[in-house]
Amino acid sequence: MKLDGIHHISAITGDAPGNVEFYTGVLGMRMVKRTVNQDEPAVYHLFYGDDGGSPGMDLTFFEYPGASPGVPGAGMVHRIVWRVASRESVEFWKQHLEDHGVAAELSAKALLFSDPEGLEHELVVDATQDERLSAASPEIPAEHALLGFDGVRAYSAEAPRSERLLGETLGFSRSGGETWEVRGESRGSTYAYDPAPPEINRRQGAGSVHHVAFASKFDEIEQWRTRIAEAGARPTPVIERFYFKSVYFLEPSGVLFEIATIGPGFAIDEDPEHLGERLSLPAPFEPMREQLERTLKPLPYPPAWRAAPAAG
Ligand code: ZN
Repeated sequence: MKLDGIHHISAITGDAPGNVEFYTGVLGMRMVKRTVNQDEPAVYHLFYGDDGGSPGMDLTFFEYPGASPGVPGAGMVHRIVWRVASRESVEFWKQHLEDHGVAAELSAKALLFSDPEGLEHELVVDATQDERLSAASPEIPAEHALLGFDGVRAYSAEAPRSERLLGETLGFSRSGGETWEVRGESRGSTYAYDPAPPEINRRQGAGSVHHVAFASKFDEIEQWRTRIAEAGARPTPVIERFYFKSVYFLEPSGVLFEIATIGPGFAIDEDPEHLGERLSLPAPFEPMREQLERTLKPLPYPPAWRAAPAAG
């Protein structure tokens, strides 16, 4: 039983329309689901990804309108690392981001930048054989598109405390220093710790990662839950999230982990050609549709090129 790398990463935004502009416009991702926070249905839960809405490239945001900026500290993921195809792609992104007013710092190995709310991203050249996930966008030449998650970096005050859970329970393998790899049959990702900055005003807020989810086969999630409970990590029950099933727990460094199933996926309640273009509500929330459609802010999506009927 193995986890197939990162399934999705969930973060917080205080500004859903601006978030959509950045992730679908500037970064060229597809919105693969527009729904509400199942634990707090008055606010959006937005999902961005590749054209298929695949695990491995699914970045989601809970909207807390007007949320103050988060400050990453111990026990929080502070950076999302993405794959691109080549050094030319890294250089393309530096120029592209700067053309959109986003400062980007180029190093020998990577490009670093932040979203408008301060969430850090890093682009690296893909060194794996994993399937390249990508979304089509007229803004981004296909050869330079984002190709899915490479991994995440978290702050830990005491990374050795996490060794046993990561290595023995979850099957991560150490790939040097405080960097781990989690790899299954279909794909893999990295999970790395950086020393925690001093604990000044550490808090979740706009631009914070809320949790990181790792991918399980659909019928193995109960076994994962049992294994995690036996390791003493206090998992939640398996929760039905409609697009996947989930178990949540804190790993010993304090980062909120989730195990999420590969499937059923985002096409369970929408035409795959039109993912994310309207508000999707799992059945228990459907009676709230009229009210929600009145109160949720309109979003700048789909863009005209996607909404237009395909030519020819
Ligand atoms: Zn999640």
